[in-house]
Amino acid sequence: MKAFSNINVSSIDEAVSAAARARSNGQSVAFSGGGTDLLQQLKDGTDKSDVIINLRNVDGAKEISSANGTTRIGGLITLEELSNSDVGDVSYVLAQAAASVGTPQIRNVATLSGNVTQRPWCWYYRNGFNCYKAGGDECFSVTGENQQHAIYGGGPSFIVHPSDVAPALVALGASFIVAGPDGESNVSADEFFVMPSQDPAKENSLASGELLVGVSLPTPRASSVSHYHKIMDREAWTHAEVSVAAVLTMNGEIVESASIVLGGVATVPWKLTEVENYLVGRQLSADVVTMAGQMAVSSARPLAKNGHKIPMTAAAVERTLLALVNG
Ligand SMILES: Cc1cc2nc3c(=O)[nH]c(=O)nc-3n(C[C@H](O)[C@H](O)[C@H](O)COP(=O)(O)OP(=O)(O)OC[C@H]3O[C@@H](n4cnc5c(N)ncnc54)[C@H](O)[C@@H]3O)c2cc1C
Ligand code: SF4
Repeated sequence: MKAFSNINVSSIDEAVSAAARARSNGQSVAFSGGGTDLLQQLKDGTDKSDVIINLRNVDGAKEISSANGTTRIGGLITLEELSNSDVGDVSYVLAQAAASVGTPQIRNVATLSGNVTQRPWCWYYRNGFNCYKAGGDECFSVTGENQQHAIYGGGPSFIVHPSDVAPALVALGASFIVAGPDGESNVSADEFFVMPSQDPAKENSLASGELLVGVSLPTPRASSVSHYHKIMDREAWTHAEVSVAAVLTMNGEIVESASIVLGGVATVPWKLTEVENYLVGRQLSADVVTMAGQMAVSSARPLAKNGHKIPMTAAAVERTLLALVNG
């Protein structure tokens, strides 16, 4: 394993300054939340950072606070804390998504920010192939083993965005709070998540030396309902083959607004705008939810070995909406 140094910081400002100092010395930097992904990447050599800035002891970095119709969640909150927090009362989909991640051991340590910014789990990248994600200039999955790869938004890389929490955040209309040398800024999901066509090496817009401090969510209306549905390739602790995060605002039995986002099938959390528009003004009858499932996959483009994701995605959308009808 490559040698690296570790810096423990107690504030976000300290973290940003430590990163700037290291970078000005020509050193590469990574931030560590729970370390569940980063430490393995350092061991495997897929992360070659010179300096690790450990955020675990940052004061107040895991707090949840609400003001003026907005809830701010600190990025150092663990997934276990998030799944059991009050946020679950109003943003149930987020608590469900956090509870669906990995194993209890991982959820007790892994953080919200680390989950959203974890690197892809494509087997080529994780096994040291010099593909786009590793700084190379080709994608081995296009003609290789692509069973678990993207059916939306692919090219030139075909990773699926690995986070369960991210689709729930996007469905809830979250913005992403980023800190860097120029201070703190709120970044919309559209700007935060980066398609491979924009930059095949990255999954988000964080520049070197910038970190994800947390997220900001508009408080959902009282008539909102939400649900997270995840399908895995085995009945145990793993990433989604496909997942659906849905947030609906209801007027009685009629859908007033809809926000539906897919995980596990696209290079970024994938918003189903056409389906959302279709659902508005409709009652969630059996015909309507079936149509929503079909519409969801009309723009999907499978690779040679992941065609199974098409019926799986249609069914997942249908089941998610049925779960909201049936409570
Ligand atoms: C067996 C197994 C099963 C898993 N199953 C799932 C699953 O079902 N669903 C799922 O979503 N994930 C799954 N994961 C991935 C796991 O959830 C991630 O390892 C974890 O969420 C990462 O959180 P962390 O806080 O430990 O991040 P870390 O390991 O600390 O960091 C992960 C990455 O994010 C960067 N980073 C961390 N914090 C910040 C920050 N504040 N700002 C900027 N960059 C930062 C790090 O530099 C690193 O690149 C699984 C992992 C394993 C090993
Ligand atoms: S899908 Fe992405 S991570 Fe996988 S081989 Fe292709 S470029 Fe690399």
